[in-house]
Amino acid sequence: MEYTKEQIDKIYEQVLRKEITICEMCDEIFDYVPRKILCDKCRVDPEYRAKERQRDEVKKKKREYMREYYQRPEVKARVSEYRQRPEVKEQQREYRQRPEVKERKRKYKQNPEYKAKEREYYQRPEVKERQREYEQRPEVKERRREYSRRKREERKNATG
Ligand SMILES: [Zn+2]
Repeated sequence: MEYTKEQIDKIYEQVLRKEITICEMCDEIFDYVPRKILCDKCRVDPEYRAKERQRDEVKKKKREYMREYYQRPEVKARVSEYRQRPEVKEQQREYRQRPEVKERKRKYKQNPEYKAKEREYYQRPEVKERQREYEQRPEVKERRREYSRRKREERKNATG
């Protein structure tokens, strides 16, 4: 069924007000019931549910396989070789600069789970050691000096 923009807006308004729900499988609209995400047809259709379960299984297997695959030393080496290529680096830089990617990253970093993980990561002795080593590098020191010099300059210009 085709909806006009007004109708769609109205539907979403009702969804937000928890008056109705849109079925996650078939887009059928039904009255809101807490935690009910599928319409009655999809809920009782055993074939549909079996397919859904199967799809989940396949996805899970694939995820597990990929995880195992990327742990292999030869694959890891190939991946890191690939990432070092200039054109790939350039592509990644371009990708990271996209507003929607930046926004996603910003949101992701707000996540408490992420924050906890990050804290845990920086507490590891080998990470701390690596960081200390990194900050001792002349070019890093130089960059930091340059950065604070620029900041000072900016503040001076801002206050007039
Ligand atoms: Zn449905």
